[in-house]
Amino acid sequence: MTGATAEVVICGAGMAGVAAAYHLAVRRGVSGVVLLDERPALSLTSDKSAESYRNWWPGPGDAMVALMNRSIDLMEELARESGNVFLMNRRGYLFATARPDQLERYVRAAEDAASYGAGPVRVHRSSGSDYQPAPAAGFEGQPTGSDVITDPSVIRRHFPYLAKDTVALLHARRCGWFSGQQLGMYMLERAREKGVRLLEGRVERVETTGGRISGVAVSGRDGARTIATPRFVNAAGPFVKEMGRLLGVELPVFCERHAKVAFHDTLGVVPRQAPMMIWTDPVRLPWSDEERAELGETEALRHLLDEMPGGVHGRPEGGGDSPIMLGIWTYDVEPMEARFPVEFDPAYAEIVLRGLTRPLPGLAAYLSRFPKCFVDGGYYTKTRENRFLSGPLPVEGAYVLGGLSGYGMMSSNGAADLLADYIAERPLPHYAPAFHLNRYQDPAYRALLDNWGDSGQL
Ligand SMILES: Cc1cc2nc3c(=O)[nH]c(=O)nc-3n(C[C@H](O)[C@H](O)[C@H](O)COP(=O)(O)OP(=O)(O)OC[C@H]3O[C@@H](n4cnc5c(N)ncnc54)[C@H](O)[C@@H]3O)c2cc1C
Repeated sequence: MTGATAEVVICGAGMAGVAAAYHLAVRRGVSGVVLLDERPALSLTSDKSAESYRNWWPGPGDAMVALMNRSIDLMEELARESGNVFLMNRRGYLFATARPDQLERYVRAAEDAASYGAGPVRVHRSSGSDYQPAPAAGFEGQPTGSDVITDPSVIRRHFPYLAKDTVALLHARRCGWFSGQQLGMYMLERAREKGVRLLEGRVERVETTGGRISGVAVSGRDGARTIATPRFVNAAGPFVKEMGRLLGVELPVFCERHAKVAFHDTLGVVPRQAPMMIWTDPVRLPWSDEERAELGETEALRHLLDEMPGGVHGRPEGGGDSPIMLGIWTYDVEPMEARFPVEFDPAYAEIVLRGLTRPLPGLAAYLSRFPKCFVDGGYYTKTRENRFLSGPLPVEGAYVLGGLSGYGMMSSNGAADLLADYIAERPLPHYAPAFHLNRYQDPAYRALLDNWGDSGQL
């Protein structure tokens, strides 16, 4: 088929592409939007996420927090108008440590986050504290910012299931989780009501005439076709770099493989209303003497006796009667090429479950009789400083929405809202330059990159 036309063709119907279609068609009134994907919508990376969100991001500057606050504002608007079909909650992220020397670090992180706009810090050092735990469901009327808790009686009262030697907690409050599939489908339906066409097909070539976008060559079940269009959005997820090459643009992104594990907490070790819990201390995995001896003798497994990095985290998943618990631990990541189906470390589930017994000792009950675990995941597509790309590319009419790393479900609304401002030629928010590809041409930014520090990845 030839002769089809569009005002904008978006390649990729993951969360990024769906959000772009939604913000263009529904919120900016742009007509003639085509959303193209060779797979079913929201099926590659966007259905593998842990579906969590946070406005809790490091600097430099306030760009990440401002963008994320905007994204969360938009998700809250969508939750209100839809009767919260995607079950957005506001339980918070609870960082925990058993190291007294971490307390000041928690306070500093909370103050930094406050200075970027994440909300105020409340420190609870005494038992008379007015710490308010988060409700299990809903998001209205909740505090922002963070609570730093060091009073042992407050820790014990509200979080009796955490390790007894926990000495400090940092409860970041504008954080929680939601159903990413439901949110994505809700936006896709609204976009289609406003005329967005979702087409099946693989983008093979992007055509330019006189240096600007003129068409997209697509292959699919119906054969090859060309869609004439003056605008093309590259939202190809883990293939955003390859897609950039079709445009002759080298995008500074790479992929890392990330997994998550789900298991049934049939003993109810973790209460169903618990927040997301992140243990920030390094961890030594618990092994019996016999296991320890065995691992020590096996070259390939000996590292499992070493201290592992902090950051093991988990949360309950599903409604009140669901027994599911999710666990994630980024203990080793390497840049790699995205290949599907994705293969994971066969020991991942066991390592994560053993790691989670440090903050949640009750889970040790499962070590003698390991529960059935389900591991899945995909790729984080990242820039080196872990800030995504949203905006125009050097080819006129070409745009990118990618590099959304491990935070694309929570940020897609903000990132697509920004992209839609570029395309609809609206005034841009102050954080726009932080996500523009041309930031890498700025020598001051390049100098900053060399000493970047915390990338915000969990
Ligand atoms: C284990 C894990 C946990 C995560 N946890 C969270 C979390 O808690 N919170 C959060 O916010 N984010 C999380 N993420 C990140 C989030 O899932 C991603 O950032 C997000 O899904 C990226 O969306 P995307 O639309 O860019 O990519 P994708 O969902 O991969 O979509 C890209 C689409 O482009 C299509 N495509 C590519 N090339 C072509 C082509 N040539 N022609 C046609 N179509 C093409 C693909 O078929 C695909 O459908 C997690 C990710 C993983 C892997």
